[in-house]
Amino acid sequence: MNIILLGPPGAGKGTQAERLEKRYAIKQLSTGDMLRAAVAEGTELGKQVEAIMARGDLVPDHVVVAIVAERIDAADCANGFILDGFPRNVGQAEALDRMLKEKGKGLDSVIELGVDEAILIDRIDKRAAETAGGPRPDDNVEALRQRLAVYFEQTVPVSAYYRDRGLLRTVDGMADIETVSREIENVLKRAA
Ligand code: AMP
Repeated sequence: MNIILLGPPGAGKGTQAERLEKRYAIKQLSTGDMLRAAVAEGTELGKQVEAIMARGDLVPDHVVVAIVAERIDAADCANGFILDGFPRNVGQAEALDRMLKEKGKGLDSVIELGVDEAILIDRIDKRAAETAGGPRPDDNVEALRQRLAVYFEQTVPVSAYYRDRGLLRTVDGMADIETVSREIENVLKRAA
C-alpha cells in the first residue's frame, strides 16, 4: 500500500505516519527526516540544504525527488510506503507520478489532515515556544511562520492536484490522535 500524507506543519503527519507504519508494515518516508539526517552527518547534500531548511524554505525539487526515487526502491518499501512531507508542490507531485509510472508502482490513497488555520497558527507558536533551543533549528517562530507561508502558497495546490485525480481523502486533523488514526484507517479500508 502506497500512501501520501498531506497537511501543514503542526498537523500531526509524523505521528500518524508512525502509526500507519506499524499498523500496515509499510515504511514511513519523511523527506524532512532524511534531509535532517544529511545535515547532521555533514554530507555534501546536508551542507547544500542546511541554510534553506533553517529559514523554512523548500530545498530544490530535484534534490528531494532524487532522494525519494532512491528510497522507494529499498527492500523495506517492498510492502509499501507512506510519504510524509513529500510532495510539497505540484512540480514534485508530477515528478512523483512519472517516477512511480517508470517503476510500475502507483498510489492507493492521498490523505489530507485538515486543520483550521487560526488553530494551526496558535499550535505553531506553542511549538516554537516549547521547542526553542531544541533539536530543530527551524522550530523558531520566524522559520515556522515561513514554513506555513510556503505551505499555503505551494503545498495547498497539491491537494487539488490529487482531488482532480480522485485520490484525495480529507480527515479532520483537529481531532485527538486516536480519532484521527481511526478516521485514516476507515479511509484506507474504503480505498482497499
Ligand atoms: P518537515 O520535517 O517535513 O517539516 O521538513 C523540514 C524542512 O525540510 C522543510 O521546511 C524544507 O526545508 C525541507 N523539506 C522537507 N521535505 C521537502 C520537500 N518535499 N521539498 C522541499 N523541501 C523539503
